[in-house]
Amino acid sequence: MSSATLPTHSPYPNDEYTVGWICALPIEMAAAKGTMDEEHGDPQRAPQEVDHNTYLLGCIGKFKVVVACLPKDEIGSSSAAAVAKDMLSTFPNVRVGLLVGIGVGIPDYGGNDIRDIRLGDVVISNDKENGGVVLYDFGKRLADGSFRSMYALDRPPWPLRTAISLLEAEHQTRENRISQYVNQMLEKYPYMRKKGFAHPGQSADRLFRADYRHVSGRSCAKCDPTERIDRYPENRPDTDPAIHYGVIATGSAVVKHTLTRDEIGQKHRAICLEMEAAGLMNNFPCVVIRGISDNADSHKNDQWQPYAAATAAACAKELLEYVQPRALDGERTVKDILNQGW
Ligand SMILES: [Zn+2]
Repeated sequence: MSSATLPTHSPYPNDEYTVGWICALPIEMAAAKGTMDEEHGDPQRAPQEVDHNTYLLGCIGKFKVVVACLPKDEIGSSSAAAVAKDMLSTFPNVRVGLLVGIGVGIPDYGGNDIRDIRLGDVVISNDKENGGVVLYDFGKRLADGSFRSMYALDRPPWPLRTAISLLEAEHQTRENRISQYVNQMLEKYPYMRKKGFAHPGQSADRLFRADYRHVSGRSCAKCDPTERIDRYPENRPDTDPAIHYGVIATGSAVVKHTLTRDEIGQKHRAICLEMEAAGLMNNFPCVVIRGISDNADSHKNDQWQPYAAATAAACAKELLEYVQPRALDGERTVKDILNQGW
């Protein structure tokens, strides 16, 4: 459906939307729009005055999806909490939540357990023991001197957990569909190519040693290539993003310091950093999906952000293919879960 023929209002009532998708940045909302199989226009029943969100409605596969974005220039956990609360009041039948957007990668090429996380790859919050999202700037020092992490989110609703297992299993037998869905997005909205949503090229992804600072300029042309971390191979055979499953660390500050990044990574076994998930604690049971746009180092620039937003959205779309619609029928609404506890 082209934008010229968009209906003013969705043909479906608000209570038919069962998947809630939250993003923080306009580029993330654009990527969400680019993954929709159908776009639905405005909500049939207008949000109440107290609801400050702007919504994007549509279909992805079998699901009716409502996307909300944080107000411009308001990133962080308190905004995310407000957006989730308003969404659930306007769309009372949301049963599963997705927090989708860009994040910081915590690669590790030093230890025994190499984590080869490249820019544009996607991280899905997932951990066997807990919700997969840890608050890195909170925690408890125990009597024996050890440190106990605090987890920001309860485990996601079971239809999402099952879907994550199915997705991971499926990708043992075939490539993921991220590149395919990003390409479809760029075909549907060719202008997005101009706005940087296509892969920037592997030469734009260079990882330097943690203590080596960026020299100057927008690119790393003047940075010393001998200070790069050896990755084997330096370039992958193709540009298809990989999906990594693990702990995502969430906190209130933008981390731009590599040693801090690595410390958080080691302390919490985290493979990604982000800033919004903490706000969804007790507000919005969800899974967090992050496209990696930088490594929190001084070489950071914004070049990868649109593409990383696109890969995260594409991954969310593929994950939804493994959520069983009937599982949602039996699932309590997020609103019910919050009212009654787990
Ligand atoms: Zn540099």
